[in-house]
Amino acid sequence: MRPEKKLESPVTPNWCPGCGDFAVWQAFKEAAVDAGWSSRNTAVAAGIGCHGHIVNFLKIVAFEGLHGRALPVATGIKLANHDLNVFAFVGDGDCLAEGGNHFMHAARRNHNITVLLHDNAIYGLTTGQTSPRTNKGQKTKSTPAGSVEEPIHPLRLAIAAGATFAGRVYVGDIEKTKEMIIAANAHQGFSVVQMLQPCVTFNKVSTHEFYQHNTYWLGKDYDPADKVAALAKTMEWGENQIPMGILYQSDEPSYEELVPQLAGRPLVKLPLRKRNVKPLLKQYT
Ligand code: SF4
Ligand code: MG
Repeated sequence: MRPEKKLESPVTPNWCPGCGDFAVWQAFKEAAVDAGWSSRNTAVAAGIGCHGHIVNFLKIVAFEGLHGRALPVATGIKLANHDLNVFAFVGDGDCLAEGGNHFMHAARRNHNITVLLHDNAIYGLTTGQTSPRTNKGQKTKSTPAGSVEEPIHPLRLAIAAGATFAGRVYVGDIEKTKEMIIAANAHQGFSVVQMLQPCVTFNKVSTHEFYQHNTYWLGKDYDPADKVAALAKTMEWGENQIPMGILYQSDEPSYEELVPQLAGRPLVKLPLRKRNVKPLLKQYT
């Protein structure tokens, strides 16, 4: 049996054949094998969307939150037990619309968690509505005459808000996706990976073919420590023009490193002491 099979739950994935979520599932399992992640040292949160079903197919302790709320769950887990590797699987609509405020503030605080952003540029689970990542002009069920909105670029937003790791991959390359997930988790701080992937059923524009023809890898001469260059890179999007790789990485201390209460043992491992709260209650009632 291949080692990553041990990380599969008994539930068979119900994604559409060809969905990019299969590739993310495979890449994450392989990354977990290589890096030694299991429920002993790792926890996973997910939002709502087709992507969120991944928690049902992994044999790693997981929590599926409300729509857009994977990041508060993930940061809560990390604060309670900062020894854990904490991943948040999020969708583009889920994270950038419903959860946009959480995304911005988790990045700003530089929480030491890894956000794996399934970007299929559509709301898939609700059958094909315009998301914050849908192209301007693209026709969807919710914008039959074409969207009039500019899409959000999540890495630009993340870097501007304070994220210290911003990477991008096309999930059709499972090996590179695996390597990026491992690198993002190894980073000490808020890391986000924009995982370009198709929704083969409801997005006929951002397809496998589109990403295969229009992405390129950043060269060895690219310096991910240069924030201005990184922001400029996030402006590149279009024909043969979508950069992939680590666009930005800096070594500012994470939230968990800065909070003195988290300097020692994780909060969940501290002994609980009984406190008499009656005087306090008397004072305020
Ligand atoms: Fe994947 Fe789209 Fe099918 Fe959802 S609807 S499983 S995102 S292909
Ligand atoms: Mg989506």
